[in-house]
Amino acid sequence: MANTTKFIPPQSLAKTGAIVVGSGLAGLSAASQLISYNVPVHLLERSLKPGGNSIKASSGINGAPTKYQAVPDAEFYGDTLKSVGKVLVNSRDKRENLISVLTNSSSDAISWLAEEKGIDLSKVAQLGGHSRPRTHRGSGQTPPGASIVTTLLNALKTSPLFQLKTSCLVTRVLKTGNEVTGVEYTCDGGESEELYGPVVFTSGGFAGDTEGLLGHYRPDLAGFPSTNDPKPGSQKLLTDVGAQLLDMELVQVHPTGFVDPKNPLTSLKFLAAEVLRGEGGLLMLDGRRFYNEMETRENITNAITRTPAADASPRQWNIQLVLDEGVYNAAKSHIDFYLWKGLMHKATVADLGPNALASIQQYANSAAGLSVDPFGRGTFANWALREVAPESIVYVGRVTPVVHFTMGGVVINERSEILGANDIPIRGLWAAGEVTGGIHGENRLGGSSLLECVVFGRIAGDHAAAFFNKSY
Ligand SMILES: Cc1cc2nc3c(=O)[nH]c(=O)nc-3n(C[C@H](O)[C@H](O)[C@H](O)COP(=O)(O)OP(=O)(O)OC[C@H]3O[C@@H](n4cnc5c(N)ncnc54)[C@H](O)[C@@H]3O)c2cc1C
Repeated sequence: MANTTKFIPPQSLAKTGAIVVGSGLAGLSAASQLISYNVPVHLLERSLKPGGNSIKASSGINGAPTKYQAVPDAEFYGDTLKSVGKVLVNSRDKRENLISVLTNSSSDAISWLAEEKGIDLSKVAQLGGHSRPRTHRGSGQTPPGASIVTTLLNALKTSPLFQLKTSCLVTRVLKTGNEVTGVEYTCDGGESEELYGPVVFTSGGFAGDTEGLLGHYRPDLAGFPSTNDPKPGSQKLLTDVGAQLLDMELVQVHPTGFVDPKNPLTSLKFLAAEVLRGEGGLLMLDGRRFYNEMETRENITNAITRTPAADASPRQWNIQLVLDEGVYNAAKSHIDFYLWKGLMHKATVADLGPNALASIQQYANSAAGLSVDPFGRGTFANWALREVAPESIVYVGRVTPVVHFTMGGVVINERSEILGANDIPIRGLWAAGEVTGGIHGENRLGGSSLLECVVFGRIAGDHAAAFFNKSY
């Protein structure tokens, strides 16, 4: 039975508001929801700049059905379940419940962002592992992560109820009995302070925590480059107050991080957005295609890492990402940015080596419907080149697998409550986003992370608001 003792905060600290830890999309979604119920929000962020990894998101956010999709889509739940893989047999009911909430709320999440918040999400692409186009982004220059985060943050800043404190690291969760009562934090390394109120934890994953959690749970990934800054995960703050962990060893290695020709051996890589493959791009190893580019991230990565690495430190491969003019036009803002950064360049098919012409011609034939793709790819989106010649123009970048996302984290239920021993919710404590585990299983589908931030962040905000209004 849950401990129902009501926490009575000291008089001077009563009604200060709810506390949100981390200013990525999950935190901003929770904060937006709390403010909509007139609950004051203290948002604590350890970095100087808000936005976390969410602001870097480049491919988009999933939703189905939405008015932007051209084809009917009732497959999102099934695609997600399939992507979870073998771990589905462990805690099947709980995983299915979370996936139902995620996919059933996805249409509403897109409407909330697009219609209520005015964010352009009108362009839809099909990413790997998806059987329908359902990853939404805007048609302009700004990548989806930046436009969503900036819009939500700017809206929050107009509210007198919203207080954002950056460079403030939460160091402890305060708990009395089975009830969380607030947090301890320090700003700019100064003296510790305490803040009281219900707590929503949205502190992100640990893919960049090579020396800590990542090294502990996946020592085999040591030496892989990453898309994430080398920062510690904050899951321990939650296990210290009784939170359970799940799937911590399930780490997503994304198949395509750019190897920058100017600095090829740096460990921090720029992500080559999955939308490049989704819009029709292909991958080549030793100048030949080798796999279905629309497969899941996990399967493509495994196909690459089964072959010998090209470099030992960091451990990286020599894969070419190849696009034609059709793909370029469909993802122009992304590709112009990569060209400007020197991560991609314009070349001819002849520049790609002696085998490239035949391999790309075969791909072009499949795209034109003249033959069945030998690797099983069924959708070629905007690939336009039909007659491939040595002088045909392509856009090329070197890519390699990169540690990208952590599927594991604290266990939550459909109400975003953090579960302690015997699956009993810890009162006064919620979580959403990458800090949680159990939704994606062995493979997160592209676009589903931003979605989980919005769906479970808003749910956390709803419940924390109700709790605040009742208890304080
Ligand atoms: C390059 C890149 C591209 C991506 N593209 C996509 C995409 O197109 N679509 C998609 O769905 N997903 C994408 N992802 C994944 C997705 O962006 C993240 O998984 C998601 O945004 C996580 O959001 P979050 O709010 O949970 O955490 P974050 O956005 O990482 O925010 C967590 C915040 O918490 C702060 N924090 C942590 N601990 C503390 C503490 N103790 N005290 C105070 N603050 C703390 C961190 O500094 C951080 O700012 C991408 C990821 C990367 C790296």
